[in-house]
Amino acid sequence: MSEPISRRDSLRSIVQRARSLLAIPALNVLGLVFPSSPITLIAERPKGEDMNHVSPSQAVDPFRLPRHVLPLRYDLLLEPDLKTATFSGEETVTLTITQPTAEILLNAADLDIRTASLQTTDGTSHAPTIELDGTLQRCRLAFMTRLAPGTWALRLTFAGTLNDKLRGFYRSTYKDKSGTTHSIAATQFEATDARRAFPCWDEPDFKAVFATTLIIDPALTAVSNTTVVAQTVENEKKIVRFSDTIKMSTYLVAFVVGTLNSTDPTMVGRTPIRLWAIPGKTHLARFGQDIAAASLSFFERYYDIAYPGGKLDLLAIPDFASGAMENLGAITFRETALLVDQRAATHAELERVADVVAHENAHMWFGDLVTMSWWNGLWLNEAFATFMEMLAVDAWKPEWKRWESFSMSRAAAFSVDGLQNTRPIEYPVRAPKDAEAMFDVLTYEKGASVLRMLEQHIGPTVFRDGVRDYLRTHAYGNADTKDLWISLGQVAKQPVPELMDGWIFQPGFPLVTASVSQSSELVLTQQRFNYLDDEQSQQARGQRWHIPVQMRVVTGDKPTTSRLLLEETEARFPVPSEFDSLFLNEGGHGFYRVRYAPDLLARLLKTGLDKLAAVERFALINDAWAITVAGLMPITEYLDLAAQFTTDRDKNVWALLLDSFAFLNRLIETDERPALESLVRQRVSPAVMDVGWTPKRGESELTGQLRSELIRALGRLGNDPATQQRAAELYAAFKTNAAAIHPDLVPAVVSTLAFTGDQARYEEFTERFRTASTPQEERRYLFSLAEFRHKPLLEQTLARTLNGETRTQDAPFLISAVMGNVHGRELAWSFVKNNWDQMDRLFPKQGLRRMCGGIAALATPELERDVRAFFISRKIDLGGKTLDQYLEQLRIAVNFREQIKTSLLTYLKSFMM
Ligand SMILES: [Zn+2]
Repeated sequence: MSEPISRRDSLRSIVQRARSLLAIPALNVLGLVFPSSPITLIAERPKGEDMNHVSPSQAVDPFRLPRHVLPLRYDLLLEPDLKTATFSGEETVTLTITQPTAEILLNAADLDIRTASLQTTDGTSHAPTIELDGTLQRCRLAFMTRLAPGTWALRLTFAGTLNDKLRGFYRSTYKDKSGTTHSIAATQFEATDARRAFPCWDEPDFKAVFATTLIIDPALTAVSNTTVVAQTVENEKKIVRFSDTIKMSTYLVAFVVGTLNSTDPTMVGRTPIRLWAIPGKTHLARFGQDIAAASLSFFERYYDIAYPGGKLDLLAIPDFASGAMENLGAITFRETALLVDQRAATHAELERVADVVAHENAHMWFGDLVTMSWWNGLWLNEAFATFMEMLAVDAWKPEWKRWESFSMSRAAAFSVDGLQNTRPIEYPVRAPKDAEAMFDVLTYEKGASVLRMLEQHIGPTVFRDGVRDYLRTHAYGNADTKDLWISLGQVAKQPVPELMDGWIFQPGFPLVTASVSQSSELVLTQQRFNYLDDEQSQQARGQRWHIPVQMRVVTGDKPTTSRLLLEETEARFPVPSEFDSLFLNEGGHGFYRVRYAPDLLARLLKTGLDKLAAVERFALINDAWAITVAGLMPITEYLDLAAQFTTDRDKNVWALLLDSFAFLNRLIETDERPALESLVRQRVSPAVMDVGWTPKRGESELTGQLRSELIRALGRLGNDPATQQRAAELYAAFKTNAAAIHPDLVPAVVSTLAFTGDQARYEEFTERFRTASTPQEERRYLFSLAEFRHKPLLEQTLARTLNGETRTQDAPFLISAVMGNVHGRELAWSFVKNNWDQMDRLFPKQGLRRMCGGIAALATPELERDVRAFFISRKIDLGGKTLDQYLEQLRIAVNFREQIKTSLLTYLKSFMM
């Protein structure tokens, strides 16, 4: 799965359970005969009290199904009714029983299971009693007779609703140009929602073959994991049969039904790739299709294994909870992650589409062909796909310097992993809800960062060969983290588990402190990094990692690179006595922060920041900021250091600098704001003067993004009237001529105008949102509504999140964006408190969880108290450690505010006019 953007259908009333279901043709009418494998039925009478058979309902773990009944194949028939938002279904599961039993346990949730029978080829059938356990999401079938080991066919009929919660089998809607609403039935099963569409063994290691048939309205189209093998019309219904899937997990099954248009296929070898969208949008598919083809071909070469599916469809769904989902052969996306107008989109928007498409394609092997045994191994799926998406996009567009901007992802992982309430990348998972909390920055971004660190440490070719070995060994099966380390270790001939275990099974990361002793030795020490210096963090300081340190020592004009492995608390290494400077974490791949002794930092600055690569400058300022927030560097020193970066022209370095200014903006009092604005203008204006407002001939594609970041900061954080004026003029021209503003600059202009905007501007942007011609434009104007300053306008924005105007996939993010706006945060917080129950009912769980991340911006002591009181009194659980992390982030901000109050004010005074 891919994360939703970190940053409508009408909220329909919940549809009632199916009232009457259409008659379903019998299985044999459709040619769905029972499997040809011999089916035995040995019906024995239970032998009294001391029966030696398994009673699965008494299994110890309430979240795991017993292992003595194994599904081999599902012949699945589903008939969705988009008008009533219901569906009916029947399935025949071929299964193996390995021990005598009188019970079969499988998963089902919110399904009405009508009939169940266990059948043989001779037509004999045994009907069990059906018990549903809503809490454990299980169905228990109890038989009068003991079932003997062998192969059986279980036939079930069932019904359910197409829900509005964007999970399981759900309904998405959209309006066409005439305003008519249309529905699509779509699926999202990861982690544990296949059981909402059909009864199944809904755990990743119960791999089976799926043969799906969909009965639909003849006017509609159906897409599933595999190719269509037969399509007929009977009784005014279209019956679409799909070929067998490979042996795979339930969470990868998918079906989408609706009015959908597709592109012509692009062939990669024998695999046709198509993009699907609602009518009127396939012209936005070209770019997505290009990266889909390029990355599929890249992965076939990298993995050295052919794509495991027969075809590849990528579908844009108007309502989608996450970013995308790697269903084998039928990948589903939210529209902004797949459809884009290449000429009108910003670099960041194109990069987003390329990333997500490559990420999902990477999963076809890593996740789909080889799958984690249980959800504790989810990180491996996601971290690996995130890592591979970088490799593929970097190979496709080297000029994008994708590994350089990956620094931003690594920084996001650092900021969560620096919390006391972080967690190890891999941890035990029992309940499904714990698995849901795993879809976070630690799984994706930290996971990908440590894989990158390992890849650089053992070498890219060795790493690739280890991955090939792992995939070949476990194809069509399941594997654990240790299996990957075994493959990598064998190929690398190195003790990979010893190196990696500390990064995977321990929370947090090390802070490496560097100093030079009097005897000219470099002294490196490690301790766990923490923002808060209290008892808990002091206890954690004893943690140790095996840290691959890549170091560059510069003497005269001569740089020398060395590789060290820091395993102990302290280690000493000789350095030349006459060295000019040294830089730890050369290349920026290491997942650790560095704190230089003052003389080492002074030497680095003296040698010149321009001698460092962009990723290294990024690491230097990123570490300095974190160390400052942790109270290990005075804020005044940080601001002086930041001043040395004003001549930098790297977009990521600037994004970081501007983030730190925005953070300070949340901490200061209103009357201090003009001084901070003045500081921002002084730091940013020279850079804007230099890069200008219009692209220069031959400039890099990334400069456009830098320009946009700088101008946006000057217009908003700097509150610069000249910038605001220029933005207004440009926008006026842009309205009649879209070419008046370069696509990369449009977000900065829109954001600046929202900052200064009145009711008229607000209405103008609302209209642009409603009539947007691309998903990116729609998103831009929707989120601009959170960037206004006037409270009555922000109130309107908040109201839109619950009145049916905003899709539930976006609404929680919009609320979070208002919380991040210093002019709207109190308003947004009150709104959350007052409407919590409604939000909890309407929003997808994932979105609700992300929305709460906005509380970290409520950085005043009064708001912090109120936030804590609310979550405690309401006993809100966001899964895993999510809420504790948000509360700690808030604590850190408020604590930092108190620490720097006086010195920051003194520093800012020199910027007062
Ligand atoms: Zn993923």
